[in-house]
Amino acid sequence: MSRSVETRTRRETVDVVIVGAGFAGLSAADRLVNTGASVMVIEGRDRVGGRSYTGEVAGVKVDLGATWVSPRHTAIRDLAARVGCTTTSQFATGRNVQWLAGKRREYTGTIPPVSPAGVVDMARVQMALEKLVGTIDVEAAWESPDAAKLDSISFGEWLDRKRALPSTRALMTLVSKVQWGSSPGDVSLLHALRYIRAVGGISHMLDVENGQQQDRIAETTQEVARRLAEQLGDRVVLNSPVRRIVQDGQGVTVHTGTATIQAKHAIVTAAPAHRSDIEFEPALSETAEGLTKTWRMGALSKALVAYETPFWRADGLSGESVTDTGTVFITFDVSPQDGPGILMAFCDPRVFDGFSPKLRRERVLEQLATLYGSQAESPIDYTDHCWGTDTFAPGGPNPAAPPYATMTYAGALTEPHGRIEWAGTETAGEWAGCMNGAVLTGQRAAERIIARLRKESAS
Ligand SMILES: Cc1cc2nc3c(=O)[nH]c(=O)nc-3n(C[C@H](O)[C@H](O)[C@H](O)COP(=O)(O)OP(=O)(O)OC[C@H]3O[C@@H](n4cnc5c(N)ncnc54)[C@H](O)[C@@H]3O)c2cc1C
Repeated sequence: MSRSVETRTRRETVDVVIVGAGFAGLSAADRLVNTGASVMVIEGRDRVGGRSYTGEVAGVKVDLGATWVSPRHTAIRDLAARVGCTTTSQFATGRNVQWLAGKRREYTGTIPPVSPAGVVDMARVQMALEKLVGTIDVEAAWESPDAAKLDSISFGEWLDRKRALPSTRALMTLVSKVQWGSSPGDVSLLHALRYIRAVGGISHMLDVENGQQQDRIAETTQEVARRLAEQLGDRVVLNSPVRRIVQDGQGVTVHTGTATIQAKHAIVTAAPAHRSDIEFEPALSETAEGLTKTWRMGALSKALVAYETPFWRADGLSGESVTDTGTVFITFDVSPQDGPGILMAFCDPRVFDGFSPKLRRERVLEQLATLYGSQAESPIDYTDHCWGTDTFAPGGPNPAAPPYATMTYAGALTEPHGRIEWAGTETAGEWAGCMNGAVLTGQRAAERIIARLRKESAS
């Protein structure tokens, strides 16, 4: 039933070749292996995990990419538990800090306090947004009522039309920078609504308690992927960017720089923009090609700064902050139970990626000092990661699809290309944009291939 696989270093047989060893690819492999199919996972990077990536600061393992799981992210939670990883609550005790319009203030709750008029305006705009979110078909946003109209303007233009006050706009800009790694003006309104709908609404998107930021994986999120890959053993091959996929009526042939792998079917889990790094023969449809060209990845970078102690807690602060100026725009306290204090800072790639490591560090520390005082200028360790300038498969957390790109091209997210099924968090309905969505799409693509293999062997 399997086809022959030949590489310079190994000769095997596989039924299915999977491109990408992020959560989607590894979950697909896991499901296929459990049904007895032979599998190879080909990863371009020198590590598994994709947008989940572990760093180290002051001897503590930290998340440089994906970090949080919500109580409703059951697929990634189940997977984490299965490989022996545990969750830890996001620290959220104390007052948060805001630095908006040049003023520092402390507050409690998710939404930073603004003037009474600002509070009313924020509620008005959020309500209007939620109303539109409620109209979105989570499995096929482009088939929602009014989809064409919603895709014809950017999220930013919609805020303009709503006459959102500057304070509301500042907060929505933070949402946009975190979710799509881009400003509201760069993202289609339909695209934004699709992602908000996928993660259960704006409150679930922003909240810590009962929301998307409720828990972290204590061992780091990449460790979940690493342990799953360990179970898959030498089926996972690293350092092998896939350059070309050729298919005919019999099967697919996947070419990397150093190997040629044949299989009956393929699953490609690269984000839509990165599908364009692969040459397909026969070529992708015009729509599928358009998807890869228009769904560019946004970027969101991170710095992790370690101190002897979480000194801000002594001042009654949670370590959570939002700012509208400079490099850092959000911080969280990700300190371990016992050990140093660690602040995670979300950094705007436009004033971070591509700067020297020294300048990046200076910028982050300078800004942390405006939020937490001069103690923040004396860390015991520092690390960061620029997702926008990654040498392979750069960008994240999510694509920043501009107006018209969803109506025209999103149908190609999941439409199979002959013997190729697509997976990856972008192809999810519910939980698109999260690790949870990635796991679900890997499992779904595996099920589709299993059905195709059964049909083929029965005929
Ligand atoms: C800074 C940041 C913060 C985030 N925070 C969170 C969070 O808190 N919670 C959450 O749930 N999610 C978060 N995410 C999103 C989360 O990381 C992703 O949704 C999820 O990891 C996507 O998994 P995936 O398998 O679909 O894609 P990826 O992780 O991108 O995996 C795809 C893999 O394919 C590989 N690949 C691409 N092209 C090729 C090729 N040609 N040949 C071989 N291999 C290839 C890539 O190297 C990659 O390893 C965050 C992401 C970032 C970047």
